Amino acid sequence: MKIKNYINGEFVNPISNNWLPNFQPATGELYGEIPNSNEKDVDLAVEAAINAFDNWSKMDVSERSKILTKIADLLLENIDAFAKAEAIDNGKPLALARTIDIPRAADNFRFFAHAITQFGSESYESIGKGAINYTLRHPIGVVGCISPWNLPLYLFTWKIAPAIAAGNCVVAKPSEVTPMTAFLLGEICIKAGLPKGVLNIVHGLGQSAGNAIVSHDKVKVISFTGGTKTGAAIAKIAAPKFKKLSLELGGKNPNIIFADCDYEQMLKTTVLSSFSNQGQICLCGSRIFVEETIYEKFKHDFVQLVSKLKVGNPLEKDTNIGALVSKQHLDKVLSYVEIAKKEGAKVLFGGKQIKIKDLENGYFMQPTILEVKTDNCQVNQEEIFGPIVTIMPFKTEEEVLKMANSVRYGLSATIWTNNLKRTLKFSTEIEAGIVWVNTWMLRDLRTPFGGVKDSGVGREGGFEALRFFTEPKNVCLKY
Ligand code: NDP
Repeated sequence: MKIKNYINGEFVNPISNNWLPNFQPATGELYGEIPNSNEKDVDLAVEAAINAFDNWSKMDVSERSKILTKIADLLLENIDAFAKAEAIDNGKPLALARTIDIPRAADNFRFFAHAITQFGSESYESIGKGAINYTLRHPIGVVGCISPWNLPLYLFTWKIAPAIAAGNCVVAKPSEVTPMTAFLLGEICIKAGLPKGVLNIVHGLGQSAGNAIVSHDKVKVISFTGGTKTGAAIAKIAAPKFKKLSLELGGKNPNIIFADCDYEQMLKTTVLSSFSNQGQICLCGSRIFVEETIYEKFKHDFVQLVSKLKVGNPLEKDTNIGALVSKQHLDKVLSYVEIAKKEGAKVLFGGKQIKIKDLENGYFMQPTILEVKTDNCQVNQEEIFGPIVTIMPFKTEEEVLKMANSVRYGLSATIWTNNLKRTLKFSTEIEAGIVWVNTWMLRDLRTPFGGVKDSGVGREGGFEALRFFTEPKNVCLKY
């Protein structure tokens, strides 16, 4: 199947007529072609966005809100088709796409459809000076949204929905390895009556199409989710052009388990926080620290539970772990098992590629548990972004806090404890944008989302996103 760019409300071929292959992770086979777009396609998309901006930005907010709600409704009406497309394109279990990815994509539109009707700005009466100061918040213009492959439609819409809700027009690029649901979103937008040019979707490589979006002088805002290295390259281009920039980048998140936690709940959730989506979630707790007194018990129980996870065909109902997204990524993740062994880590479970019957060329790998001797090793410091976690014991709060903060990343952290004092101490002192206590991945879309250190710059989510996608202007009115 050949997918097309969605520009100015129409599906179009790339101007160069160049195409890229799209492989299915579960079979390793070519199953489609996508536009290999370049700066000419991006120019067209930006032009369409500029032309649409005047009407869209001035449209009554309630009308904009209705169109976004309609997109959310249509996504849910077509949930089966979208979930299947996501599972085939990404390799993730169909059940996960059906219960998490697609509902959340719909929620992104529904949430911001509502949020924009509640979005206000501050005003101050300057008593004694005889003036009122108030702030206008206007949409900025053309926004560039670039997203990764791990949660394709979920993260794509996480940016697009607030950007267009706030009255901007968007040029967006999904990851070249998972373009399918972004393509299908174009059809939904047409059906929902989104005016042409408000959303433009350009497919292709980061180096060409992505780079052209970031470099384009008329694109005033960039919202990017992806790797830290790519984020740095984007910042280098965007900074001298004074673009507004939001970067949601990599993570190497600690999962800290104290002996006083609710053990069963912790154990169940830790399996999820380790291996959901094949461990390819920026929020996965890939460094597990366990209090010494329960370490041996945890080790035993964790290995037992993980050994029961079914790695298999993403389209089968009982599959827990599907295929990794690409051959290149599988090779990278597997290489960390070798690095770990050289570093003296012990493979407690997994570590190998798996051949699944009838899917022998698929990119499948066992969930892998590495017992490390020290926190200061490559597998504990670098983001692997696959089904690999490390575990190690700790004795004191000070020791584990230091280890938790000893990485370049600061996206999220999970703490398991019933001790209030400790909860307050850790949630204050851990260097992360999000701290979960006795849970994981419980999201409320009103909350600020983002990371510190090399995990990113800026916050999206809730009103933070609407603030990011608007420009404040203060007006001082003397009376
Ligand atoms: P990449 O950084 O490789 O790619 C992300 C997107 O950027 C893709 O669409 C990619 O296109 C594009 N891109 C690549 N190079 C450039 C460039 N020079 N200019 C503009 N765009 C470019 O990340 P991955 O897709 O590999 O995703 C995995 C990463 O994303 C992990 O590090 C993960 O932690 C992070 N992530 C962060 C999240 C967060 O919220 N903080 C959430 C989810 C993931 P192409 O596909 O063609 O390379």
